[in-house]
Amino acid sequence: MELWVTEYQTPSLGFSCKVSETLRVEDTPFQHLSVVRTEQFGKMLLLDGMVQTTELDEYIYHEMISLIALNSHPHPGNVLIIGGGDGGTLREVVRHPLVEKGTLVEIDERVVQASRDFFPMLAASFDEAKSELLIADGIEYVRDNKNSFDLVIVDSTEPVGPAVELFSKGFYQDVFEALKDDGMLVAQSESPFFNEEVIKMAYGGIKEIFPIAKLYLASIPTYPSGLWSFTVGSKNYDPEKISFKGNMECRYYSPEIHQAAFKLPAFTKKIMEMNK
Ligand code: SAM
Repeated sequence: MELWVTEYQTPSLGFSCKVSETLRVEDTPFQHLSVVRTEQFGKMLLLDGMVQTTELDEYIYHEMISLIALNSHPHPGNVLIIGGGDGGTLREVVRHPLVEKGTLVEIDERVVQASRDFFPMLAASFDEAKSELLIADGIEYVRDNKNSFDLVIVDSTEPVGPAVELFSKGFYQDVFEALKDDGMLVAQSESPFFNEEVIKMAYGGIKEIFPIAKLYLASIPTYPSGLWSFTVGSKNYDPEKISFKGNMECRYYSPEIHQAAFKLPAFTKKIMEMNK
């Protein structure tokens, strides 16, 4: 018998992978969690039926959500990650030579456990000397910490359940206040092809609060439409300008990709212009 896992990316589009083994299925206090082994992408973590990460393409998302901001902020010593309970973003943050401390605040400790059990290449970051792992609501954590971080990375699930508020203007204002005077925010902002409304919320909200707001793109095969966006809010530094030129081994990110990622197709620019 063949077993397939399908993420319904829209009500009329499914993304299916052939499954060779079901490794975990559970309802956590926050969401439905599953880990399966797929023939095409290796192990895959899904939350509420939506692909979060896979062994084969995880590096694209994790390098691109982290390294653009890390390499354009001249001294990203103290970094906060909201969400990101698989540990992949933390891995990129703590291997950066200019980072002194990476704090990860994940609401669901079962995501962290699933990563420890099945994705050691991501979860190893939890045990790095520069890392701090907290199981808490990122929204409250940001509210309680003022003027503390050089960079805040919002590595959240889609705007459903506990992540809804992570796309709100009130939350971006709290992040602004949690950042130091020259701090930066980067948030995953979904697919410009399928999630126009999310981009309007994320880019629109960040643009109202931060003096500099820019959106960039990356190609991620297992995310809806394969084309993914990230939005940067910056108090001072232009995220397009590379300030750190050290040599970090990467599989997707490069100085050329850093610059190219900000060159946007016309249809994406149009979505952003709706926020003017
Ligand atoms: N790369 C992923 C993507 O875009 O599909 C996101 C990965 S990561 C697994 C997202 C995490 O955000 C989840 O583990 C979820 O539990 C966490 N999360 C959602 N809302 C949160 C909140 N309010 N505070 C902290 N973590 C939260």
